[in-house]
Amino acid sequence: MTPMLEVADLRHTYGSGPTAHTAVQNLKFEVAAGELACIVGPSGCGKSTLLRCIAGLIKPSEGTVSLHGDKIDRTPEDLAVVFQDYSRSLFPWLSVRGNVEFPLRSRGVARAERRKRAEEALEWVGLSGAGAKYPWQLSGGMQQRVSIARALACQPSLLLMDEPFASVDAQTRFELEDLLLRVRHEHESTVLLVTHDIDESVYLGDRVLVLSKSPASIVADLTVDLPAQRDQITTRESKNFVALRSEVARLLHNQPAAEPEPVVRPASSAAEDEAAAQRFLEAEREQTRQTSR
Ligand code: ADP
Repeated sequence: MTPMLEVADLRHTYGSGPTAHTAVQNLKFEVAAGELACIVGPSGCGKSTLLRCIAGLIKPSEGTVSLHGDKIDRTPEDLAVVFQDYSRSLFPWLSVRGNVEFPLRSRGVARAERRKRAEEALEWVGLSGAGAKYPWQLSGGMQQRVSIARALACQPSLLLMDEPFASVDAQTRFELEDLLLRVRHEHESTVLLVTHDIDESVYLGDRVLVLSKSPASIVADLTVDLPAQRDQITTRESKNFVALRSEVARLLHNQPAAEPEPVVRPASSAAEDEAAAQRFLEAEREQTRQTSR
C-alpha cells in the first residue's frame, strides 16, 4: 500500500562553495495513514529544514518527498502546518472564526461551507463559544487551539506540527498534548510532529524517529509500545514509557559530533549510559523550564 508520506534519500544543502552547509542528508522514512510519528532531535540538527522540504517550502538538493504517491514540488492543498509561534501565525485583525476560515477562502471553499467547517473545528478544540473573539483576547494556549482548529478545518491528509507546544506553560502543554491525542483518534489524522522534548515524543507518538546532530539523518525508528489511551500521570509513570524515554535520551546523547573524524570509542557500561541519559534528561527539563517561563 502507498504510504501517506514517503521521504526518500533526502538531502538539503544551504548555499554553495566553501560556505555550503548541509542541514539534512540520507533521510529516508515513511509515515502510514492514521499514524502519529514524532521526530525528535537536538536543536539545530535540521528538523525545520526537513519540515520545510515536506511542506514544499524549499526544494531539496537531492531526493524526493511524496504525499500519497504524488511527488511534492509545492505546498500541497491537503497539507496543513501548525507552528510553534501562534502569536505570529494568527492574524490579529481577524476574529478567531476569520482566522480559521482564512485558508479555506484561498482554497475556494464556499462561504456557508467555510462557516460550517470553522464552527466544527472550533468545537473539536473546545472553543465553540470563542468564534467572535480576537486572538489577542485569548490566552497563549487558546491561541494555539485556534491554530490547531485552523489546520483541522482544512481536512488535511497530513498535519505537520513544528514544536507546537514549546511556547506554552507546562500545564497548558499537557492539556494541548491530550487535545491532540483525542482529536487525532476522533479524526484518524495522520500527523508528523517535530519536537526537541523527549518525553513529549514518547507520550504522543506511535513512533519516534530520532535524528542525529547536524546534518540530520535518522539514527533510530522506535515503535512506541504504549496503549492508545494515554494519561499524563499513569502513562508517564509506566515502565515502558520510562524505558523508551531513556532509550531516546541515550540515542541522542551518544552521538558522535557533526562531521566526525573516525574515532574508536571505549564501550561504556550500562550504568554509565544510564547516568548520561539522566544528565541529558535533566538538561532537557531545564531547557523546557526556561522556554516555558
Ligand atoms: P532545527 O530546526 O533542528 O533547529 P534547522 O533546520 O533550523 O534546525 O537548521 C539546521 C542547520 O541549517 C543549522 O545549522 C542552521 O544554521 C542551518 N540553516 C537553517 N536555515 C538556513 C538558511 N536559510 N541558510 C543557511 N543555513 C541555514
